[in-house]
Amino acid sequence: MPALTADARRARALERLVAKVRGCRACPLPHEPRPVLRVSATARMLIVGQAPGTKVHATGVPWNDASGDRLRQWLEMDRDTFYDVSRIAIMPMGFCFPGQDANGSDLPPRRECAPKWHAPILALMPEIRLTLLVGSYAQARYLGPRAKQGMTETVRAFAEYLPDGLMPLPHPSWRNTGWLKRNPWFEAEVLPVLRERVRRLFDDQEPAAVGAGTPAGRSGSGP
Ligand code: SF4
Repeated sequence: MPALTADARRARALERLVAKVRGCRACPLPHEPRPVLRVSATARMLIVGQAPGTKVHATGVPWNDASGDRLRQWLEMDRDTFYDVSRIAIMPMGFCFPGQDANGSDLPPRRECAPKWHAPILALMPEIRLTLLVGSYAQARYLGPRAKQGMTETVRAFAEYLPDGLMPLPHPSWRNTGWLKRNPWFEAEVLPVLRERVRRLFDDQEPAAVGAGTPAGRSGSGP
């Protein structure tokens, strides 16, 4: 039998790791854990979001909700492309729905998850050239002290992080509709750059960035 290529070995290792994630019971959750992530050894873009909400928890499909619709609109990307795991990986800060507080609001991503799983998964995704840091939790972890005072200023400074293949974005939740209205520069200045970067990435024009866009080496503690 011919020896496996490095790519095939990596793909198998990733499969084994994801199987371990699916069996993870590290967090005390109010329901059976259901980790939601999509990763592959060939993906070039990575989306690091927050945590599944109720709809995503029920379907097991990440970004399968109104927030996902808005994110795809920001990217000008159809669902088939967005869910092509050979090209786009999706790995939230917390893989499982964390439950809700007494007011019915979703709790923050579980703090245990990113420190436990992100680095080993990222180590098996060497092709990542662009990482979207969606929301303040992902930005805190992967920008660390380079993040500005608050999400708005961090997103406004997006050009500082792009050479490293990192793109901070606000969360596309309906809760941020007011933020989008108050900050029209986001749609006018940030989204065109994002779309152009993504287009070049998949047109094969995007050179590997310094640090390759993979925040694998960062070991900052999660929020
Ligand atoms: S949120 Fe992450 S660490 Fe917690 S049980 Fe789910 S997979 Fe495990």
